Amino acid sequence: MIHIRGLNKQFHEKKVLDQINLEIREGEVVSIIGPSGAGKSTLLRCMNLLEVPTSGEIYVDTRKAEYKTNARGRLTLQSYMKLTWLRSEVSMVFQQFNLWPNKTVLDNVTEGPRIVKKVPRKEAEAKAIKLLEKVGLQEKINEYPANLSGGQQQRVAIARALAMEPKVILFDEPTSALDPELVHEVLDIMVKLAKEGMTMVVVTHEMNFARNVSDRVLFMEDGQITMSGKPDEVFHLKNARMNQFMRKIT
Ligand code: ADP
Ligand code: MG
Repeated sequence: MIHIRGLNKQFHEKKVLDQINLEIREGEVVSIIGPSGAGKSTLLRCMNLLEVPTSGEIYVDTRKAEYKTNARGRLTLQSYMKLTWLRSEVSMVFQQFNLWPNKTVLDNVTEGPRIVKKVPRKEAEAKAIKLLEKVGLQEKINEYPANLSGGQQQRVAIARALAMEPKVILFDEPTSALDPELVHEVLDIMVKLAKEGMTMVVVTHEMNFARNVSDRVLFMEDGQITMSGKPDEVFHLKNARMNQFMRKIT
């Protein structure tokens, strides 16, 4: 579903992603773990060109994401316009939810389909209501994000991601900003999506999720994927760096 070849990313002189090759298969749930600063978020953000790679190729469902950059390393306007398909096929859920604060829950969920995919309002709203039911927030459709708990906001963000009918959802530490007692309500939804066969790439510190829900775990350090395999293999093989990482977070 996602195919990455020779991906490099530099910020100024600093190499943040170093020649990454990665394939994510359809229906696969892949967890990415590793220390802070390893390049996990940057890798995720490169997958939908929220961050522009310095070099490398990205394919989604065999279609190549073509990008041209200007002198400042930003996407050219033309590239940006041509990547609408990528933004609808690869949705993202952020650590800080990133909901629009001045829009209701319902409008947060319908905005993408209406603007990007030109879905008529009525249709977008009917779909959004179904998705908000799915994440247990049918009562909250007319609320503003500020009136919701973190767990509820993140569930809205997941409904918003689903509303685009993506082929893949990327999650960047989706539970890290939540109070501990609210973590499970977001994880429960993610487990449900995983069981339904959604293709998911999840940067996480939730080792139980990585171990029990994902099909594959990647360990990243210094811009490289240094271990990759089934959860049992990776957690069994632990190298010195991973042991150090595990001691810190558990
Ligand atoms: P992780 O998500 O694993 O903690 P990141 O991908 O956020 O790591 O960051 C990897 C490295 O890239 C870090 O050293 C970070 O400081 C740097 N970095 C990330 N984003 C930027 C940016 N926009 N400008 C400059 N440096 C950045
Ligand atoms: Mg990060």
